Amino acid sequence: MSKYDLIVIGSGPGGYVAAIRASQLGMKVGVVEKAELGGICLNWGCIPTKALLKSANVFEYLQHASDYGIEAKDFKADLPGMVKRSRDVAAGMSKGVQFLFKKNKIDQIAGTVLTHLSGMSARCSRHIVVRRKIDAVVTEIRREISEACSKMADECNEPALDEQD
Ligand SMILES: Cc1cc2nc3c(=O)[nH]c(=O)nc-3n(C[C@H](O)[C@H](O)[C@H](O)COP(=O)(O)OP(=O)(O)OC[C@H]3O[C@@H](n4cnc5c(N)ncnc54)[C@H](O)[C@@H]3O)c2cc1C
Repeated sequence: MSKYDLIVIGSGPGGYVAAIRASQLGMKVGVVEKAELGGICLNWGCIPTKALLKSANVFEYLQHASDYGIEAKDFKADLPGMVKRSRDVAAGMSKGVQFLFKKNKIDQIAGTVLTHLSGMSARCSRHIVVRRKIDAVVTEIRREISEACSKMADECNEPALDEQD
């Protein structure tokens, strides 16, 4: 069973950069991700939207090709083709994060972590819950997080909170 110095929840730009840096600093790192590696930015936000904008940009250039001394005839927008390109670009970027995780020996753990940290500092909270169906690795992580947070809660003189499921 793997033991981790750091568990990162989510592999978006915030998560994967933190995970890689922590690994570079010598920590054993695991990242729990409920969807695709790379988060919203790589999979649905920044990257695929810019890929779509690029297609629109090329189409606009073609419409004004004659302004540039270029003759372009019989072209038309292929929306499914644009969307496919956008999805392919996003998938490629997500694979890039997967490669970086492997290179930096970071474990990718598929699953959802349910957190209820409001009203209490995350540092002292032991209110971190993982769904039962997630595999045994995450169950072990849950125990370790719970123990570590319990210890911190004691140190902070915070009242212990019960785990929920
Ligand atoms: C349409 C759109 C266009 C955008 N364009 C730009 C842009 O051009 N430039 C720019 O700078 N920003 C842009 N953004 C904003 C950018 O996407 C966010 O700032 C960025 O994704 C935030 O990164 P993050 O790591 O904080 O979170 P996210 O990218 O949201 O990643 C969070 C990850 O955590 C996972 N996760 C969440 N909760 C759990 C859980 N409990 N257990 C396990 N996994 C979990 C999610 O599945 C997700 O993969 C855009 C956003 C959108 C929606």
